[in-house]
Amino acid sequence: MSYSDESFLSSVERMFDRAAELVGISDDLQHKIKICNATYTVRFGVRLRNRLYTFTGYRSVHSEHREPVKGGIRYSPHADQDEVEALASLMTFKCALVEAPFGGSKGALVIDPAQWEPHELEKITRRFTQELAKRDLISPAQNVPAPDMGTGEREMSWMADEYKRLYPNDLNTWACVTGKPVSKGGIRGRVEATGRGIQFALQEAFRHPKDIEWAGLSGELAGKKIVVQGLGNVGYHAAQFLSQEDDAIIIGVMERDGAVVDQSGIDIDGLHHHIHSSGGVKGYKGYTSDTHSVLTMDCDIFIPAAMEGVVTVENAAQIQANIIIEAANGPITFGANEMLRKRQCLIIPDLYANAGGVTVSYFEWVKNIGHIRFGRMQRRQHERQTKDMILAIEEMVGAKFPEARLAKIIEGPSELDLVRSGLDDVMREGYQVMSEKWNRDARIPDLRTAAMMIAIERIQDSYSSLGI
Ligand code: NAD
Repeated sequence: MSYSDESFLSSVERMFDRAAELVGISDDLQHKIKICNATYTVRFGVRLRNRLYTFTGYRSVHSEHREPVKGGIRYSPHADQDEVEALASLMTFKCALVEAPFGGSKGALVIDPAQWEPHELEKITRRFTQELAKRDLISPAQNVPAPDMGTGEREMSWMADEYKRLYPNDLNTWACVTGKPVSKGGIRGRVEATGRGIQFALQEAFRHPKDIEWAGLSGELAGKKIVVQGLGNVGYHAAQFLSQEDDAIIIGVMERDGAVVDQSGIDIDGLHHHIHSSGGVKGYKGYTSDTHSVLTMDCDIFIPAAMEGVVTVENAAQIQANIIIEAANGPITFGANEMLRKRQCLIIPDLYANAGGVTVSYFEWVKNIGHIRFGRMQRRQHERQTKDMILAIEEMVGAKFPEARLAKIIEGPSELDLVRSGLDDVMREGYQVMSEKWNRDARIPDLRTAAMMIAIERIQDSYSSLGI
């Protein structure tokens, strides 16, 4: 963790305190909502390579005002309790902001996945799952993990499978984790969801010219110059969609081992393929080892999509982007946030920006407990009804419908269409409420504070309905 100004948790707590004071809740409730309810630390042994290795894992439950609680599990050699609690707290506010009916949680295993073979990782993941299951820290009704840094469909599939072995009589076992492959109870569109959400968030921001002009930009997303940090799950999908579908130009990509720069636009698929075949960006056209020069290069939009604490008080003054959209959790420290706001850099905050993941996880969880794929009941009915309508229109006007358009109009929505539509709706509405609050009240300094205030107000409502 590279938080140099202050700890990740303290940075999130300061952002929370400022918003809570503007909401005007009592000190007692402010304290209750802020603190993390519980953090479980487990150390377990796994016999591998003729030795017994001990691993440390965490699962933090920040708030149970709604259950199940939800949040990813990351595999990282740098994870610690402070980081997991900060991430769990962000999950609480994120879920409240985008109206996903969950409390906040997060987990981590202190491990460098690159150091282990897949069959070893499977053994470790299954043991970790058993430890979590013993304490209801993985459960369809109480705590539902998801992928995060260093984990993906494969790890979620091992976890779901292990949980199924432990509870074979539970009808809802698939709902114990989200982010599973489709063949193991997953939902179409989950892998791309967080990156897709970044795209939808930027599209919505550009539908708010006042906000864009505040940041010194104008016009459309097309042609805007973008720098991305981290071409993993979130960064890759965001960069790919923005360049392929919105005609934005990705001029810089930073990775662990260096960066790639191309003012005419980087071929994201080509670079992604290179990273997977060679292990890094080194050797790709436009490679530089000087990542700092890429972090501080002139661009319209910066997308930090790797990890927390990348923009700090030490480098914030050199960042030139007009907009920073926090695809990662906590990439900008509290102090850096203050500096960037003063020079009118529009920060689209993590608790909103990367909510695409939890939103589609919510759809997956609903699919799992509903035991039916979205669109299964309506698709053919929609097709029949639309065909009838088209026949009626043709009879009325005495002309044939254009053949080229017919198939697209008649075809009912697939699961992927519905997931993308639901996600787009959530991301649009999330931006709208945040921006409206920020623009309406001069005391609210930025989108982050507005987002946090909305989340706090909703959590406060949930407490007051219990008479607290
Ligand atoms: P990932 O492991 O798939 O990708 C992370 C990428 O960042 C990798 O390509 C890695 O090589 C790169 N990276 C690591 N250290 C770096 C460094 N110092 N400089 C530049 N690049 C570096 O992880 P992910 O799932 O894409 O998650 C990235 C961030 O997004 C995390 O902060 C995570 O909490 C957040 N997030 C992820 C999801 C999700 O659905 N996966 C959802 C919400 C938020």
